[in-house]
Amino acid sequence: MDISVIIPAYNEEANIQMLYDRLSAVLRQMQLDYELIFVNDGSQDKTIALIKNLSAKVPEVKYIDFSRNFGHQIAVTAGLDRAKGEAIVIIDADLQDPPELIVDMYKKMKEGFEVVYAKRAKRKGESWLKLWTAGAFYKILSNITSISIPVDTGDFRIVDRKIVDILKQMPERNKFLRGQISWVGFNQTFIEYERQERNAGETGYTYRKMLHFALDGITGFSDLPMKIVTYFGFIVSGFAFFVMVYALYSRYIWEDYQPGWTSLMISILFIGGIQMIAIGIIGEYLSRMNHNIRQRPLYIVKDTNMEERVD
Ligand code: UDP
Ligand code: MG
Repeated sequence: MDISVIIPAYNEEANIQMLYDRLSAVLRQMQLDYELIFVNDGSQDKTIALIKNLSAKVPEVKYIDFSRNFGHQIAVTAGLDRAKGEAIVIIDADLQDPPELIVDMYKKMKEGFEVVYAKRAKRKGESWLKLWTAGAFYKILSNITSISIPVDTGDFRIVDRKIVDILKQMPERNKFLRGQISWVGFNQTFIEYERQERNAGETGYTYRKMLHFALDGITGFSDLPMKIVTYFGFIVSGFAFFVMVYALYSRYIWEDYQPGWTSLMISILFIGGIQMIAIGIIGEYLSRMNHNIRQRPLYIVKDTNMEERVD
C-alpha cells in the first residue's frame, strides 16, 4: 500500500460523494496503491450510510464507524491506528483542503521529507473571530513552547510511515496531533495553498471544542502557565510582606491607623482571584493526568471493514 488517506467526517453527508470523486481521481492519476479511510465520528446524518454504500462498490474505500462523537483528533488517531500505507495523508471531509494538492505534497515528500504539511496562505469563508482567536492562540503557543508548531496550518498533511509508528507510541489521550508531529522532528517542510470555503454543511468545530483543543495544545506542550502562577505567587507574597511591615508599624509605632475597609476588600478579592486562577490552571493539568490514568479506550468502534494493524 503506497498511500492511506484519512478522512474524519462529522455530519458531512453533502460532501462525501464529491470528496470521493475528487480524491479518487487524484490518486488514480498518481498511479498508486491507495486506501481511503473514512472515520465517521458519530454523525447524526446519512454520512455513514453514504460511506458504506461507496465501500460496497469500491474496494479502496474503508470505514471506521464510531459509537458516538469522540472529536476530530480522536477520529484521525483511529485512522492512523489502522492505516497500512507507506505514506499517510490527513484531510478534512468538507473540501476545504483541496485533494489535488496531494500530488505536490507527495512529490515534495519524495524529495526527502518525512512530513509535508499544507500552510494556508489565504483562508476563505471563515469568521473574523475564528481567524483572530486562531491567530492569537498559535502566537501564544509558539511563545510558550520549545517546539515550533507551524502557524496557519491544520492537520492537512502527508506523513511518512515512520512518523505514524512513532505517534502510535505516544500514549497521551488529549491529542494535539500537529504539535506531536512537529515534536517528533525529522525533515519537515510545507507547501502553501489557498484554503477554500467549506463545500457544503456546517462546521463541526464549535467554539467550545476549539477552546478544549487549544487547552490540549498548551497543556500538552508547556508547563509555563503553572510556572507563571508560581512567579506571581512570589511577587504577591513579597508585596504582601512589605504591606504587613507597614501595617504593623503604623498600628504600634505611629499609632495612626484607619478602620481600613477599602484596602481589606481589595486585597481579599485580589488574592482570592489569583488563588482561583491558580487552582484552575492546576486543575487543567490534573484533569488531563486523570484522563491518562483512567486508561479507558480512546474511542469505541461500532463497525468497520478494516483489521486492527499489528506491528
Ligand atoms: N470533525 C470530526 N469530528 C468533530 C468535528 C469535526 O470528525 O467533532 C471533522 C469534520 O467532518 C471535518 C474536519 O473534522 O472533516 C474539520 O472540521 P470542520 O470542517 O467542522 O472544522 P473547521 O474547518 O471549521 O475548522
Ligand atoms: Mg472545515
